[in-house]
Amino acid sequence: MKIADIHLLVVEDHEFQREALVSMLVDLGARHVAEAADGRAALEVIGGSAQRIDIIISDLDMPGMDGMEFIRHVSESGMPVSMILSTVHDRALLASVGTMTEAYGITLLGTIEKPATPRKLEALIGLYRPPATLQPKPLSVSVSEADISEAFAARLFEPLFQPKVDVATGSVKGAEALARWYHPEQGIIGPYAFISALEANRRIDELTWIMLEKAAAACRDWRASGLDMTVSVNLSLGSLTKVGFADRVTALVRAQDLEPKHMVLEVTETTAMTDTARALENLARLRIKGFGLSIDDYGTGYSSMQQLSRIPFTELKIDQSFVMRAIEKDACRVILESSLDIAKKLGLKAVAEGVETRADWELLKGLGCDVAQGYFIARPMEAAKIAAWAAAWTERSSNLA
Ligand code: C2E
Ligand code: CA
Ligand code: CA
Repeated sequence: MKIADIHLLVVEDHEFQREALVSMLVDLGARHVAEAADGRAALEVIGGSAQRIDIIISDLDMPGMDGMEFIRHVSESGMPVSMILSTVHDRALLASVGTMTEAYGITLLGTIEKPATPRKLEALIGLYRPPATLQPKPLSVSVSEADISEAFAARLFEPLFQPKVDVATGSVKGAEALARWYHPEQGIIGPYAFISALEANRRIDELTWIMLEKAAAACRDWRASGLDMTVSVNLSLGSLTKVGFADRVTALVRAQDLEPKHMVLEVTETTAMTDTARALENLARLRIKGFGLSIDDYGTGYSSMQQLSRIPFTELKIDQSFVMRAIEKDACRVILESSLDIAKKLGLKAVAEGVETRADWELLKGLGCDVAQGYFIARPMEAAKIAAWAAAWTERSSNLA
């Protein structure tokens, strides 16, 4: 989108700095620039005017309503705005305000250490995408109860497996099972389109058991062919609150001659967020039995820290949104780095997902991340293709060193 078409709002209490910012923006070609001297005035601009605002460039230290409170009000207004934050403060503060801003559902384009320069402003404004294109997850095809029953009856749910590899050595460590629906008319449907429908229809538990069963069988085959791999399975809340879940998974794994340590259960933060004692009981029991427990999509929930302190995780899986933007967005790299730091301090294995390019891979290597997963390494594939892929990867990864 051209800067001339973007509606900007500059929020800065310091008059000279505000004027300087506005004239830089105009010099860059901006044609719609509003300004406000503090948070309260800015909210009036947002709420009162008929014009839309696309990007707010805001100072964090302001008298009266500070930047943090302003961000909260902007979030509550429900406006789909993007923000650029400017401050004289250090990276630790930027990281936490950045996480907070994104947790409030606002797109953070980046942060600017004062003084702002035209180049820096231009680079961050260049990252702006109108809200419609910011929705990466395809909306669900409408799925009826009858469709779901048919799919289970015809056994149309199958896992694909995406490899996870050791960043330092390149060795293959495991693979994550990702559900697919092989629809006779619509082709292969991805989980974003049906997981919530299964949850709503209380059929998610059935999918979980199919995935656990097939994942264990695949892992047994890989191990039998000499690959020292684990298998990861995504869990939904519905399954974790069932009494006896831990015992049943243990029996399932043993039936394939596997040990619990060969299976990792991935729990998303929203799932883990539940207070229910039963989920915590199951998670603790799984851990005692030796299963791996992974906190999935780390960094996207509201209380990552709290989850870490009450669930005995063995692995921290940094959300792909931070990993794939770490190179272009300072805030994402800061969140990636601090997540790696937390994993190290808590003795958890750090896994980065969404590793799409060689540059992402090199960055993770430099930062000392343990394990990587993403399109750069491999796309999800059928279980039977893993062995041939692993042989080719061994060849390729020796050239990456
Ligand atoms: P997730 O657990 O975060 O899984 C990673 C998703 O990112 C997968 O999407 C994977 O195909 C995709 N991905 C992997 N590498 C890259 C990359 O380099 N770039 C990009 N852009 N994407 C990458 P998928 O298979 O569509 O799965 C979406 C989500 O559905 C999963 O996210 C997981 O939360 C959920 N899901 C998948 N299978 C199951 C399941 O059996 N049960 C439950 N409850 N949820 C599942
Ligand atoms: Ca996952
Ligand atoms: Ca994830």
